[in-house]
Amino acid sequence: MEIAWLCVIKCRAAVAWEPSKPLVMEEIEVAPPQAHEIRIKIVATGVCHTDLYHLFEGKHKDGFPCVLGHEGAGIVESVGSEVTKFNPGDKVIPLFISQCGQCRFCKSPKTNLCEKGWYDVMSESDTRFTCKGKKVLQFMGTSTFSEYTVVNEIAVAKIHPSAPLDKVCLLGCGVATGYGAALNTAKVEPGSTCAVFGLGAVGLAAVMGCKNAGAKRIIAIDINPTKYEKAKVFGATEFVNPKDHNKPISQVLHEMTNGGVDFSLECVGSVAVMRSALESCVKGWGVSVLVGWTDMDDFAARPIQLIAGRTWKGSLFGGFKSKDGVPKLVNEYLEKKVKLDEFVTHNMTLAQVNDAIQLMQTGDCIRSVLSVALQ
Ligand code: NAD
Ligand code: ZN
Repeated sequence: MEIAWLCVIKCRAAVAWEPSKPLVMEEIEVAPPQAHEIRIKIVATGVCHTDLYHLFEGKHKDGFPCVLGHEGAGIVESVGSEVTKFNPGDKVIPLFISQCGQCRFCKSPKTNLCEKGWYDVMSESDTRFTCKGKKVLQFMGTSTFSEYTVVNEIAVAKIHPSAPLDKVCLLGCGVATGYGAALNTAKVEPGSTCAVFGLGAVGLAAVMGCKNAGAKRIIAIDINPTKYEKAKVFGATEFVNPKDHNKPISQVLHEMTNGGVDFSLECVGSVAVMRSALESCVKGWGVSVLVGWTDMDDFAARPIQLIAGRTWKGSLFGGFKSKDGVPKLVNEYLEKKVKLDEFVTHNMTLAQVNDAIQLMQTGDCIRSVLSVALQ
């Protein structure tokens, strides 16, 4: 390995110094990768609602200063010792769920969790970022709002060399999450009736998953009607705005479907919507999947909902084992089986990250993709 690779890199990153404040473009120092680590030049990153959740809503007020961003794609800049499967120049997607391949979860086909996985922010001793003499935490172990980041090799997927990074970055979180929630977690069946609550990138990807699984009816639900045109592109057949009805949305869906939908997916992150999604399912066999993220409130439902045969489940990263799943999804995009371009409503630069955050807050985008470094 060239000695130059092992230098500290000074680069630009958007630092979240404290909760609910705009991100600040700063020069940060990125330490060299240690054993089993990979330093990645981030080329493009999406902005996901989970970044906003940490910044504005999360309980983890101590998770600052940090660099947000977990939906990125880039190129390996250098590798630490004992890394054998990656080389500088490889195109990669950093993963917020690891796949070590060795633990009891990785060895089980029943889950995509990994015992070594990182959630939320990495500890001060694990982060490789420093700014103005202070350790800056890595959000979800990835931190893609930075020109360079360092990730453990168990949390990096090597992808097809011809993949366009400004599109496949969306497979690092939102699109993989919603798509897999329909296919892997709900296991949507051909001919079924589905309801998707929330039509951001995650929900639209769930719509796409329902369609690719052969669902006959896909009812798309959002309080923002500007999302319906996009939902049609991904395969939605009907649209419901809860604001247009003065009765519970579950009742509206029961009336539309003769007793409830076969599958429902909550892609909002609201415990009230989670309950509605469950109650919208048909008794006997309806399956409802929690995809939206919140850890602020408990959820509630009447036990009869489950006693009567409904199933309530959750899905993290769409149930995909991350290192195995993401390269396959990239190939499916290249083979045109999975759409990505249609999710991108705004192309911006990393320096415009606060504008992208605002667009998501006001509901005026599906995904903004930020270009971070030139390829
Ligand atoms: P987004 O903000 O782009 O989309 C959310 C959508 O929900 C918006 O269109 C909004 O209008 C709609 N909405 C809000 N309240 C609603 C209501 N009461 N009824 C119906 N629709 C409503 O967000 P996103 O990036 O698509 O993320 C969606 C959720 O998924 C977030 O909670 C995010 O944290 C979560 N998420 C979970 C995982 C996971 O692994 N489980 C991964 C990524 C994101
Ligand atoms: Zn995300």
